[in-house]
Amino acid sequence: MNTYRIAAVPGDGIGVEVIAAGVEVLEALARRSGSFALDFKHFDWNSDNFVKHGHYIPDGGLEELKTFDSIFFGAVGALNVPDHVSLWGLRLPICQGFDQYANVRPARVLPGVKSPLHNGQDIDWVVIRENSEGEYSGNGGRVHRGLPEEVATEVSVFTRVGVERIHRFAFELARTRPRKQLTLVTKSNAQRHGMVLWDEVFHEVAKDFPDVRIDKELVDAVTTRMVLKPGTLDVIVATNLHADILSDLAAALSGSLGIAPTANLNPGKQFPSMFEPIHGSAFDITGKGVANPIATFWTAAMMLEHLGEVQAARQLMSAIEAVTEAGVHTPDLGGTATTRQVTDAVLDLLNR
Ligand code: ATP
Repeated sequence: MNTYRIAAVPGDGIGVEVIAAGVEVLEALARRSGSFALDFKHFDWNSDNFVKHGHYIPDGGLEELKTFDSIFFGAVGALNVPDHVSLWGLRLPICQGFDQYANVRPARVLPGVKSPLHNGQDIDWVVIRENSEGEYSGNGGRVHRGLPEEVATEVSVFTRVGVERIHRFAFELARTRPRKQLTLVTKSNAQRHGMVLWDEVFHEVAKDFPDVRIDKELVDAVTTRMVLKPGTLDVIVATNLHADILSDLAAALSGSLGIAPTANLNPGKQFPSMFEPIHGSAFDITGKGVANPIATFWTAAMMLEHLGEVQAARQLMSAIEAVTEAGVHTPDLGGTATTRQVTDAVLDLLNR
């Protein structure tokens, strides 16, 4: 029997609530399968501990994390820590340190869920976000702080290696989908260096994938296409910043941020990959027991698939869809169910 070691990092806010629910569901699946086991270790790396001890990740923490098969992550962010400090303190050192360069964000309107779009049923996308460089490479600085002549730079970095590998990943993924369509999103009319490199490398890589239909949009134009003609898009590849924004839009158009999952993949598997809901700590609902756990369950299914437990991943997706279809919805989806009730409904199906 395969035993997978999973590092659970709930983090802050509703991250704690949804990861607890996700662990319950994953344990039920492992019990049901009889063919694999999950060995969880919990890490209390969060903003409370940052405020007390001055660090999110203790000395040697990343080294320890490297020994796990996967990371199951909640959210990071707290009212008393600036967002850029919490993000760079916890999430980005893992993504960048473990070369999780491919961020995969599926968006689909689950059965029983209402999209704000009249044609929302046409949404079936995967947004692929470059996750290791670009606008979030941390390159820049500030001088003359606080003075009128203060200068701050935030320099995007695009490397040929980084651009080529994300395009190749996107083509490989597009090839596995029924429509085999890949849309390149950049802003190469206004940004004439890095974005033009993105365009050029895309077309070079495309030659190796003649079976994938390609097209190209500017990032502003693709937002209107997502809203007006959702059925014309399939897989979208975009930079770190652009895809970050587009995938929040995709989540909202498919019903709620509370159902949208994401995988931060190290495709070569030299390091563990990290699975998390797209949403953040959601202070407004923390501790109320109403956080939607569906995004976390969906990302748990992505984790199982990545681990090679494809059947368990399918069982989990079917249970999620049966529960959304039955109308067991938390308030973000217009319902009155609690996190506990949605979790129990999924567990009920898995334990049958
Ligand atoms: P971040 O900057 O960390 O991505 P954010 O500022 O975008 O976070 P979130 O914490 O994701 O904000 O929350 C945005 C809104 O969506 C809030 O009103 C929150 O309550 C709602 N929301 C987010 N996740 C969920 C969820 N799982 N269930 C219900 N509502 C959610």
